[in-house]
Amino acid sequence: MDQKKVLIVEDEKNIVDILRFNLQKEGYETLEAYDGTVGLKLALEENPDLILLDLMLPGMNGFEVCKTIRDKGRSTPVLIITAREAEKDKILGLDLGADDYITKPFSIRELMARVKANIRRVTMVQSAEPPAENRLDFGRLVIDKGAGFAAKDGENLELTQREFELLTYLASNVGKVFSRQELMERVWNYEGYVGDVRGVDVAIRRLREKLEDNPAQPKYIITRRGAGYYFQKD
Ligand code: CA
Repeated sequence: MDQKKVLIVEDEKNIVDILRFNLQKEGYETLEAYDGTVGLKLALEENPDLILLDLMLPGMNGFEVCKTIRDKGRSTPVLIITAREAEKDKILGLDLGADDYITKPFSIRELMARVKANIRRVTMVQSAEPPAENRLDFGRLVIDKGAGFAAKDGENLELTQREFELLTYLASNVGKVFSRQELMERVWNYEGYVGDVRGVDVAIRRLREKLEDNPAQPKYIITRRGAGYYFQKD
């Protein structure tokens, strides 16, 4: 198995030291950036398997780094490390395309579990499946699991990795309602996750914005009040 590469973008040297030590101990290759500008450069040039991104950085802040990475069409998993408790920062981060966040001070064990889950998720998607089952065709909407993209009316929806997996998971189970908790466990790979499941709502909202003709009146991703979400054929 090839060595996975993790980019650490963080200006506090002692935190970088702890992260590097633990990541290398687990067999990851590490890259480091101490400001946002260098972080962005490495993210684009080195194409890491995951980015650990601090928000408060000199130069360019973490929000801008994350947004730019997504604007460039990169779907690299981004795990935000934030000292901020403010809910709006977390939601904004997810809104700008981050996959996950963890609040300082964090436990190394929790962080490593998140790193592993986010990398495993991508690896699972990339591993080949039999071609016949690789395509979900709903007429206007086509999901190509093998190639990893979804298109509507022939146009690539340009989903992030997470959005793509969420759509694929729901669309592979037409009509079946999944709770936020279930989606957290199955799409996010957080086994027994009991934390904040609002990330699911944010991801659903972003997905609808790209997928639906009218995101306010979704035709594909439907909310079952008090229960969760399900996919229906248009
Ligand atoms: Ca910082």
